[in-house]
Amino acid sequence: MAKQYETVIGLEVHVELATRTKIFCGCSTRFGAKPNTQTCPVCAGFPGALPVLNKKVLEYALSAGLALNCEVNRYSRFDRKNYFYPDNPQNYQISQLYLPICHDGWVEIDTGAGKKKIRIHEIHMEEDAGKLIHDEWGECSLVDFNRSGVPLIEIVSEPDMRSADEVIAYLEKLRDILQYLKVSDCKLQEGSMRADVNLSVREVGSETFGVRTEMKNLNSFKAIAHAVEGERERQIELLEEGKAVLQETRRWDENKESSRPMRSKEDAKDYRYFPDPDLPPVTVSEEWLNKLRESRPMLREERKQVFAEQYGLTEYDASVLTASVHMAALFEETAKRCGNGRRAAAWLMGEAMRLMKEDGLEPSELSLSPENLARLIRLEEEGRITPHSAKRVFAAMVREGADPDHYIEENGLAVVRDEAALEEAVRQVLAANPGSVEEFRGGKEKVFSFLMGQVMRQMKGKADAGQVREMLQAHLGQTEKKL
Ligand SMILES: [Zn+2]
Repeated sequence: MAKQYETVIGLEVHVELATRTKIFCGCSTRFGAKPNTQTCPVCAGFPGALPVLNKKVLEYALSAGLALNCEVNRYSRFDRKNYFYPDNPQNYQISQLYLPICHDGWVEIDTGAGKKKIRIHEIHMEEDAGKLIHDEWGECSLVDFNRSGVPLIEIVSEPDMRSADEVIAYLEKLRDILQYLKVSDCKLQEGSMRADVNLSVREVGSETFGVRTEMKNLNSFKAIAHAVEGERERQIELLEEGKAVLQETRRWDENKESSRPMRSKEDAKDYRYFPDPDLPPVTVSEEWLNKLRESRPMLREERKQVFAEQYGLTEYDASVLTASVHMAALFEETAKRCGNGRRAAAWLMGEAMRLMKEDGLEPSELSLSPENLARLIRLEEEGRITPHSAKRVFAAMVREGADPDHYIEENGLAVVRDEAALEEAVRQVLAANPGSVEEFRGGKEKVFSFLMGQVMRQMKGKADAGQVREMLQAHLGQTEKKL
């Protein structure tokens, strides 16, 4: 009988914190600036420059730790991790090895077989490295230090995951929590959330772990899932052939859907860690921790419940709207303003998502404001705009940030309340369609919607449907009596 294998996976997740300035200096952390415009002697590693810890970094690391059910080290320290690499100007990275800020936490994920706890070994604070740019010119590499010193937390899990699905569920859970805490935007494509995957396989029933490899360079959930599957197969193949799995770091190539060795996996001792003499130890008061516990923003699960209870959304709708913290905020603000949660949900889950898909936009990139959406819903409710025109206005609001009142006025989309004009249109339609009038009187009620359509067309789609219906009914009634 063929051997059965189990995959054992642990993750190291790096998350860039959403502070305005870097971890040890006042330089901006803004993404996408011109190379080397956000640097100073500290983050460019000049000799003699002294780091000073940004308090916001500590606050965000603590918030994350508390939300991930961690113990907090009330006394923690920074250590130097020594290595040379061209994007690392100090020749060491300031990180935490001996006394990380948080340890022993957990999160709960949903799996096909119910809920499962994934334990978190530790969370530590550290600085990001610069970025090497290899393809600008053929014969040399360039280095951009804007990212050097951007604050990171590294969240290290225990090897508790057993499949790609569990890995993705865990990452989604981390992303939800960190986004709702507003400590990071967690954009995998911009590198503000990055995962290294430690993976080994062992025979089902075995108590000991197999030799693990680490995979880096994974910048999408899809790539992570592929890398897990690919590495599992590669290791099983080796074992089946009687060969050994080497402990090494491998680089996953998403285009080739295969990995290749990068370097043999180093241990902590290889880095000659030692306490950083430039930074004093970090102490955290119980008082501060309590304050952070009390001021924690609502997380996704709580938000979902509020949406269902306060705004009458179904569990499904609440789940879709809370998948993005931006969408959730947009919904809630709109619903508060217009008092019609279901209508707000319908717009956001219908037209907004359709347009986002069409334009390839993220919720955070929408130009739609809650004020404008609430206004549009009000105009709709008051019958001052037809459903057809409302869609046009909505698209302009999403794409150009248009103001609904201006847009309606500029494009002549307001419902025409002019009774005389409507009456004239009804008369014309009835006069032009004597056959249909006859059929209607003969009992063919379906003809009514045809006549409605004709009147609406005559009014260029700007008449209020209720008013057209009334007017048409009245006129058909009269015609009957007259005859
Ligand atoms: Zn700096």
